[in-house]
Amino acid sequence: MSQSGDWIKVQSGSTTGWVANWLVSVQAVQNTPAKPAAPPANSAPVPGIQVAVINADNINLRSGPGTQHNVAGQVSRGVRLPVISRSGDWVQVSRENGSPAWVAGWLVSFVDQPEPPQPPQDDKSWLPGPQPEPGSGQEPTREPDKEYIPEAKLVDVQISEQSDRTYINIVSDHDIEYNTFTLSNPFRYVVNLRDVYLDKTPEIIPAGTNLVQQVRTGFSKDPYISRLVLDLKQAARVKVSLSSDKKALTLEISKISYSDGLAGKNVFLDAGHGGYDNGASGKNGLREKDVNLDITLKVAEILRKQGANVFFSRSDDTFIDLYERTRMANDQSADVFVSIHSNANPNTAIGGTSTYYYAPPAIPALYEQRDDRRRLAEDVQRELVGALGRRDIGVLQANFAVLRTSIMPSILIETAFVSNAEEEALLGAEDFRQRAAEAIARGISAYFSGQ
Ligand SMILES: [Zn+2]
Repeated sequence: MSQSGDWIKVQSGSTTGWVANWLVSVQAVQNTPAKPAAPPANSAPVPGIQVAVINADNINLRSGPGTQHNVAGQVSRGVRLPVISRSGDWVQVSRENGSPAWVAGWLVSFVDQPEPPQPPQDDKSWLPGPQPEPGSGQEPTREPDKEYIPEAKLVDVQISEQSDRTYINIVSDHDIEYNTFTLSNPFRYVVNLRDVYLDKTPEIIPAGTNLVQQVRTGFSKDPYISRLVLDLKQAARVKVSLSSDKKALTLEISKISYSDGLAGKNVFLDAGHGGYDNGASGKNGLREKDVNLDITLKVAEILRKQGANVFFSRSDDTFIDLYERTRMANDQSADVFVSIHSNANPNTAIGGTSTYYYAPPAIPALYEQRDDRRRLAEDVQRELVGALGRRDIGVLQANFAVLRTSIMPSILIETAFVSNAEEEALLGAEDFRQRAAEAIARGISAYFSGQ
């Protein structure tokens, strides 16, 4: 950090002079006190919370946002502390003992979450199921569970095709409790049924429709889950509906369309970080904020050519508060909010692409949009994984501020990891960024076309 960079020229009446920028920020703090924020229950960083990484040796923690406040302790380089709030250039963090303290924002870098959340379990990890008794001749996944067999049975799986759409009707004799997710490379759609016994359902059900090759079945225990894996012939959209008596689940599988979806749509693009907040930094000096901005500007260009109205939280290297970002999008009545980031992890071997949305039952306004939020995330994640060829970490839910405070369907994209040397090099390359931008634009287009 250059010494002159810490000083700012100011004017007071007819006199000009120089003042240290950390004193300027202290003044600003007095005019706009930080909003009170409760510290987390413990200091362990959790996904969805921004983490400040200390970038200097033995720096002071203070009791308030400014050098006039008492020194409350010291932290050494590399320590990671969850961010509670910000005030001017100062950052309130949760100390390792759980108590809050303040640190100068220019002495830390910010990363979005310390560990990637667990991706959805890949179907291969539990198929085949329990090993058969020697000589029993039973299929490995079909051995009856001697300890526990659910009362509910799967009574039928019907497959039909109508004007290019495949319909799969899954029928049980009890209420169906289910969840679903998609996998790419190759494209699969997975339906988990809680506490349903497969009974006489075949292990492989040929489909032979335009979009679905076959349906494979299997189960796992603790908890007891039966799984149907649809092997898709191409990327497809799957609409799930549960019958009013909750005993039949219908999957409507249709082609993904990219046509005419974008004309007149308001798309808000949010390039992550900016200004003094570099985001994550790579070993070779790549800064996340620069990658995010470049990809964002490329996405905007593609979307505008297809008739979308594009808005930005930032279109240059400036710092913008997280809540200001969603306030802008909410004010502009954006149809979607797309936040573009690059990931980081202390384990530099970790790489891959992930997309987050947030729609918990506890927040009804978000939960009402859960299908749209998730579909937007799935459409973009699928295109990104296909275009970039990095590990598919998947579509995940996370309580990021921008996802929680946006009133329209919103996603946060982590294109790849700047902390991974191979992906840092890719993220620094023009063609990789262009491919990422085209994939994001295609995903947004598919989302609108599928509405
Ligand atoms: Zn980020």
